[in-house]
Amino acid sequence: MSRQQPGFAGVDPPERWPPTRGRFRAELLEAPVRSLAGVGPTLEKRLAKLGLERVGDLLGYRPRRYEDPAPRKRISELLLVGSVADEEVLIEGEVLRASLRRGRGRLQILTAQVSDGSGQIAATWFNQPWLQEKLRPGTRVRLRGAPNRYGFAVRSFDLNGGSATSDFAAVYPASEDVSTAKLRELAAHALALVCGCHDPLPVTLKVGRGLPPRGDAYRAVHQPRSLEEAEEGRRRLAFDELLTLQLALAKQASERETAVAAPLPEPGELIERYRDALPFRLTEHQEQAIRELDADLARSTPMQRLLQGDVGSGKTVVALYALLRAAEAGRQGALMAPTETLAEQHFLTVEPICTQLGVSCALLTGSVRSDAGADVVVGTHALIQEGVAFRDLAVAVVDEQHRFGVEQRSALAEGRSPHVLHMTATPIPRTLALTVYGDLSVSEIAKPPASRKPIVTAWVTDERSSEAYTRLRTHLTEGRQAYVVCPLIEESATSLARAAEQEAERLRLGELKGFSVGCMHGRLRPHERRELMARFNARDLDVLVATTVIEVGVDVPNATIMIVQEADRFGLAQLHQLRGRVGRGSEQSYCLLVTRSKDELTEPARERLEAMVATTDGFELAERDLEIRGGGQLLGARQSGLSDLRFARITHDRELLEQARDVARSLAPDTMAAEVDGLLGDSEHLGDS
Ligand code: ADP
Ligand code: MG
Repeated sequence: MSRQQPGFAGVDPPERWPPTRGRFRAELLEAPVRSLAGVGPTLEKRLAKLGLERVGDLLGYRPRRYEDPAPRKRISELLLVGSVADEEVLIEGEVLRASLRRGRGRLQILTAQVSDGSGQIAATWFNQPWLQEKLRPGTRVRLRGAPNRYGFAVRSFDLNGGSATSDFAAVYPASEDVSTAKLRELAAHALALVCGCHDPLPVTLKVGRGLPPRGDAYRAVHQPRSLEEAEEGRRRLAFDELLTLQLALAKQASERETAVAAPLPEPGELIERYRDALPFRLTEHQEQAIRELDADLARSTPMQRLLQGDVGSGKTVVALYALLRAAEAGRQGALMAPTETLAEQHFLTVEPICTQLGVSCALLTGSVRSDAGADVVVGTHALIQEGVAFRDLAVAVVDEQHRFGVEQRSALAEGRSPHVLHMTATPIPRTLALTVYGDLSVSEIAKPPASRKPIVTAWVTDERSSEAYTRLRTHLTEGRQAYVVCPLIEESATSLARAAEQEAERLRLGELKGFSVGCMHGRLRPHERRELMARFNARDLDVLVATTVIEVGVDVPNATIMIVQEADRFGLAQLHQLRGRVGRGSEQSYCLLVTRSKDELTEPARERLEAMVATTDGFELAERDLEIRGGGQLLGARQSGLSDLRFARITHDRELLEQARDVARSLAPDTMAAEVDGLLGDSEHLGDS
């Protein structure tokens, strides 16, 4: 009954298709990338940095877009004044000579003079020194890229008749050391391995949905003959991801049905005193969230509520409300954070108010052990994992839950059945949240307290970075404070810490001479970090040089400017989180994103920075992030703990998502567990893990 998919890139449906639900040639997909032709130890390492370790990972690596054939130009046309353009063109010619030089930092610039008889142009490659050897005088090259004021920036190329620049080709999220051409080649090898492979999806689920077999879908995605074909393949792979997600959510929901929680009595005198103690009035959004939360707490089913609101929107006040509701009932509230820094920061915020209200409050992290019997306990997720002996936990607040996997979430919900409030600063649309989170209810703080001014964000390239520091010093002289965020290097926490220390020292002697500069990183002992935060809070420090440990939760309203070094290395969500450290008071705040020159950045990096400058709205950025990454690693999906959605684009795939949900729900409860294990088991072998 399967619909035939004519025209799928050269693969005819296997004769006996679909087969019984057997393994999907799991062993082939599980094979390390090393098993593919042309992958040695160096390339293997580089691929691992992109998360590509197995053959299945390569197949699951979604192209960002597809290249149309670029218009062919003569070099003389490019040399005309005003031909600097963003549009890609194709040139062909012969290498006259090539040379390598070092640019800023670790940058290596390879330049080849290329001539096609009509003229000569300097073509440049970044960080590919090994190419020099291949670009011998006389080599024929075909280059795809953009002319700029220095010559021609190469984006893809062929030497002696390859096919990387030619036609309708997949463009992958490449890295600086694995080119899209290389990825195309590897995808082709991987496809050859799985061609005609078995399909884990039962035929009954495919009927009427027009979903091609999985092997064909992979081929369509990586080597399409048209955009339509690529889209059809993507939809099939997206459906699998969404079904996996929905099945797991359904399983979780059925597990939760049996859980019971103790209802809490109405808010009373302690809550009244809390409201009086706050130095501001709660916003309408905060009040609404509190009403929704109160209704949940009155029930005997454990609350599973998601509180979403942009950074700085005032979620913590609501969280503390929930914790105090537990304390008021003579029971316990726990606030859990993903990192020790954040837990400590929360503790610094929460503890004084608790003390003022006569509620005991304790900090509990991997390294600080105090009283697990306190009314309010603040700590890291180590709290959950190690099964701390709470006296009587009634409410748990889980902050920045995208750091938590589903396992931790259910570990918390099982056994004790407290009411759980999840908080996240990365909003996704409400209806989507419901579908992606399954039965989680959602409260949203859609607007921050009124006194905030949007943070002014600028993208500054290296040559002008000294102006960024001049700006920063002006703020310091006016009595304000600042952050400088160090580059994200993909090395150990220890070398990251060392780099941050060195940078702090360099700034103390240089740009920030005369100011007091602290340095915050993940290698500090908890009490050192606490001390540092307290000093920064007390304005004893002017500047905090930091790694991303300040990403979440740090809350110092007097800090009004932030410089992010090598901002292109950070993800969009991360930049948005970092930026949220300023703009917390009523003063105008600034965020300066420093990078190398725009030409030297990858396309996604440029897009991220443009998005940061264009908006401070977390919601918009989340959508933009989705587009740039093609839906991969969506925070909402990560939270489900199952898979990064690679092919699914939840903003566009509503219909597929609903279908997947219906399928998941239609499976009878008793067979469901088996189905879930079966399907998930299979899918895991497909690189969904
Ligand atoms: P989030 O946790 O959502 O990032 P916070 O709860 O840390 O945000 O709040 C950010 C800042 O705004 C804090 O300094 C907090 O005291 C302040 N704040 C919270 N609610 C209000 C309000 N209703 N009016 C004014 N300021 C508020
Ligand atoms: Mg916060």
